[in-house]
Amino acid sequence: MADLLIDWKKAENVRLVEGKPLVFHCHHYNCHLQKTIEDSRIVDGKGIQLTAAREVAFEHFTKAFANHSELKEPKERLAFAENFFRLAGFGLVDFSKVSKNGGFVTCPSSHYAKGWVVKWGKRKTPMCFFNAGWIAGVLAAAYDGQRFTYDVQETMCEAVTGKGCTFQVGVR
Ligand SMILES: [Zn+2]
Repeated sequence: MADLLIDWKKAENVRLVEGKPLVFHCHHYNCHLQKTIEDSRIVDGKGIQLTAAREVAFEHFTKAFANHSELKEPKERLAFAENFFRLAGFGLVDFSKVSKNGGFVTCPSSHYAKGWVVKWGKRKTPMCFFNAGWIAGVLAAAYDGQRFTYDVQETMCEAVTGKGCTFQVGVR
């Protein structure tokens, strides 16, 4: 398993992971931000969060896989991404049931879903828009695709069922 490249630019007080700035936020921040965006009646909150996560993950992991030329196979790249997700505090993600042509990705533990339930209780609809976008961006980078190659929809959510999250992955 390749180690993450982690650096801290002391003069600027910026943490770099794989050459990109990375900020760690708690569930209070992340879930309040999501609720604020989602509750808006004038913007597409789900779309904003999903698209932003996909853009950032695609750029970040394209750079990470360039940094780690030893990760040649998508399976190795996705194992690296699973480790990143866990270390960044986003929870657990499992890419074992997805291929270049789509499939399913699961999150047995989701930072966003757990945080939401702790703050406001269960909800009626899936809410891990960040995870869906992040998965789409990572898959595109891992399979040398384009940033919009994959369409990811959450079909089951821990914040609804209490039993982990499942994402259906399709190719556009
Ligand atoms: Zn979820």
